[in-house]
Amino acid sequence: MTQHSTKDFQAADAQHYLHPFTDFKDLASKGSRIITKAEGAYIYTNDGQKLLDGMSGLWCCNLGYTQPAINKAVADQMNELPYYNSFFQCSHPAAIELSKELASVSPAHMNNVFYTNSGSEGNDTVLRLVRRYWDLKKQPNKRVIISRENAYHGSTVAAASLGGMSYVHNQFGKLPNIEHVAQPYWFKEGGELSREEFGVQAAKALEDKILELGVENVAAFIAEPIQGAGGVIIPPETYWPEVQKILNKYDILFVSDEVIFGFGRTGKWFGCDYYGTKPDLINFAKAVTNGFQPLGGVMIGDKVADVLKSDGGEFAHGFTYSGHPAACAAALATIKIMKDENIVDKVANDLGPYFGKRMAELSDHPMVGEVRTLGMVGAIELVKNKETRERYDSDGTAGATCRDASIANDLVMRATGDNMIIAPPLTLTHEQIDELVTKAKAALDQAYETLQAKFG
Ligand code: PMP
Repeated sequence: MTQHSTKDFQAADAQHYLHPFTDFKDLASKGSRIITKAEGAYIYTNDGQKLLDGMSGLWCCNLGYTQPAINKAVADQMNELPYYNSFFQCSHPAAIELSKELASVSPAHMNNVFYTNSGSEGNDTVLRLVRRYWDLKKQPNKRVIISRENAYHGSTVAAASLGGMSYVHNQFGKLPNIEHVAQPYWFKEGGELSREEFGVQAAKALEDKILELGVENVAAFIAEPIQGAGGVIIPPETYWPEVQKILNKYDILFVSDEVIFGFGRTGKWFGCDYYGTKPDLINFAKAVTNGFQPLGGVMIGDKVADVLKSDGGEFAHGFTYSGHPAACAAALATIKIMKDENIVDKVANDLGPYFGKRMAELSDHPMVGEVRTLGMVGAIELVKNKETRERYDSDGTAGATCRDASIANDLVMRATGDNMIIAPPLTLTHEQIDELVTKAKAALDQAYETLQAKFG
C-alpha cells in the first residue's frame, strides 16, 4: 500500500469513504485514526502509536493478528480453487470439511450449517429458516419472532429489525412480526431487586409476551447469550434456565445469536454451552475465521434440519459467496489452532479467571459502579455516584471521555454509552492482561479528572 502522511489519508478518507455507524460530518472534522499494521495483540497507527487491542478488532480476531497458518491456508486455497459456488448441485472440499468441523465443535444436536458472509446475513437467514420450518410444519400462522430491547443482531433490514436499538429503528422503522421484550440488564434496570430476582423477572417478560401474542402466533425467540454491542450485559444466573423452561413449555424455536460469543470467548465453544441452553439455530460469524476472511453461518439443530431435509422442496435462499473456499479455509485453520492450542480450556481455566480477578480490582475506582466479566469479556460501568448509580449525564459523555483517555494510554476499549467494553484476544499472556488492566486504570484516572473538572 502506498505510504501517505496521516493528514493525506484523513483528507481522502473524509472525502470518499463513508464509515459504518458514523456521523460523517463529525468524523470529517476530527479525522480518522489510520491503522496500518497489526501484530500479535497490538495494532499500530500510521504515526507509529502501538495500542493493545482490547477489542480483538471488532470482537473477531480472537487469536490476535499474527497467525501465519491461517494466512497460508487462505493462500493455498486461493492457488487451488479461489472460487466456486455451492448452487446447482456443486460443492467443494473446503466447505465440506468445515461443515464437518463445525458440527464437531457445536452442540451434539447441531449437525448442519448454512453459510453466509456475515452475522447480519446470518440473521436474515434465520428469519427465512424459521418461517420455512413452521410453513413445512403446516403452522404458517407462526410468524412472530421475539427479540429483546437493546439487542444487536446486525445491520441488514431483517437483522436491524430483529435488533432492539431504538435509535436504529428510528431511522427506518422495522419489519412486521418482530416484537421486543425487556433485557436482563440488572445494573441499569434492576432497581431494588436482587440480581436473581431480576433475572427471573426479565425471563417472565418473555412468557408474558408469548401469552399476549398467542402461542399459536409465536415462531421463535432470538437472543445473544450475553448482549455484546448492547454493553456486555451478562445476565443474572437465574435468567437462562428460566427462559429455556419457557421456550420448552410453549415449543418456541430458540435462536442463539453467537456472532460474538461463539468460538471460545466464554470458555466454551459457544455461549449456549456455557449457559446450558439448547438452541435450535446458532448464528455465528466473526471469530470463526479469526476475522481474517468474511464468513458467517447458521448451525441448524436436528429438529429443524430434519424438517428442512424432508419433502418440502427447494429452500429459495442463498448467496454467491455462501461457503466461499478461501473463507472456509481460514475457518478450518482457525479451528485447528483453537483445538491444537486448547484455547477454549485455557480461557475457562486460566486466562478467564486471571482476567476476571485483575479486572475486579478496578471496582474500587471512584468512577466505577460495576465491573463484570465472564471468560475473556468484560464491562466497566462508569458512574458519578457509586451508591445511587447516577451517571454523569445522559449523553454517554463519560464513556466517550474514557474511550479517548484509553486511546491516549495506548489501549483500545470501546464505549457503549457510559459502559466500557473489553474483549481482548484469547491469546493474551498474563503479563499482557496486567498491561491491559494498568492501562485501563490509567484511562479511568485520566477520564475521572476530566469529568470531575466538568461536572464537579
Ligand atoms: N449479531 C450479533 C450478536 C453481533 O454482535 C453482530 C455484529 N457485531 C451481528 C449479528 C452482525 O454481524 P455483521 O456485522 O458481521 O453483519
